[in-house]
Amino acid sequence: MRNVLIIGSGCAGNTAAVYAARANLKPLVVAGKHAGGQLSLTTLVENFPGFPQGIDGPELVENIKKQAENFGAEYMHGDVLDAELLGDPFRIDVEGEWIETRTVIVASGASARWLGLESEQKLIGHGVSSCATCDGFFYRGKKIMVVGGGDSAMEEANFLTRFGSEVALVHRRDQFRASKIMLDRVQHNPKIKLLPNTVVEDVFDASQHRVTGVRLKNIATGAVWEQEVDGFFVAIGHIPNTAVFKGQIDTDADGYIISKGGARTNIAGVFHAGDVQDRVYRQAITASAAGCIAAIEAERYLEAEGH
Ligand code: NAP
Repeated sequence: MRNVLIIGSGCAGNTAAVYAARANLKPLVVAGKHAGGQLSLTTLVENFPGFPQGIDGPELVENIKKQAENFGAEYMHGDVLDAELLGDPFRIDVEGEWIETRTVIVASGASARWLGLESEQKLIGHGVSSCATCDGFFYRGKKIMVVGGGDSAMEEANFLTRFGSEVALVHRRDQFRASKIMLDRVQHNPKIKLLPNTVVEDVFDASQHRVTGVRLKNIATGAVWEQEVDGFFVAIGHIPNTAVFKGQIDTDADGYIISKGGARTNIAGVFHAGDVQDRVYRQAITASAAGCIAAIEAERYLEAEGH
């Protein structure tokens, strides 16, 4: 029987592990399919406080893990395949092994949705990004492209005009899902060029390990052309990793956990941390803070339950 089982090993899960371990709760962290979370997909992180020269994303998340292990946190590989959260104790199926626990911290994150092009996948962290706040700074005076037609794409395109010499916004339709005010801002920003009815066919150049350009196609006219690009930002939505908890943990229509205040979910003893609940900030530091809050709440819950 575990006191605390943490699902996910990104900033949120690993920070929860540091706090739970220092509270002598010997947490078990289920690392998940993408151990290290979104940070493991980035290169330099310049906005996590405490690192004046910046730190590589994978190194940062690994450091937090080591810190947790130093205090007695245990890690296991694998993914959660099933969960029974309506009984007592909770039971979690990690690739066939059922683990019993008194509390659960769900820090399973949200995965960025990608276009799915092979070249795009190869260049993630090398010019292809899903986070303008994280990576925009690297493209000062450079040519930037953003893909998407929702609020995220509008927000990222606007934000990126602070850095780029020009920002092209590519969207597959001529109707935008974004709210009117966000679209207005983009349309009135002289640095942004809208490319509606346009799809990305390829991203260059994986052989150079950096983005040099893209091949685009206008699906209304059939025109195909190549365009120089240095930074390629995909902003076509995120998918919170909550499918396995469906029908037990309350989520909104998109699958994000609905917070009941602090780190609480609708199930007493089950807490949330990080992007699995946060669709707004999505930063390493906010995920870490959420992990800290979840661990403190789990500790207080256990104490109140007499454990
Ligand atoms: P979203 O609203 O679901 O929009 C996703 C966009 O990506 C859509 O335009 C969609 O095109 C496009 N897309 C999806 N799959 C694609 C593919 N395979 N290839 C090309 N394009 C693709 O997602 P979001 O923009 O991340 O926003 C999510 C939620 O957060 C929304 O409720 C939004 O309002 C909110 N949000 C709010 C703010 C704000 O208010 N400051 C900022 C960010 C997000 P189609 O339209 O053709 O389907």
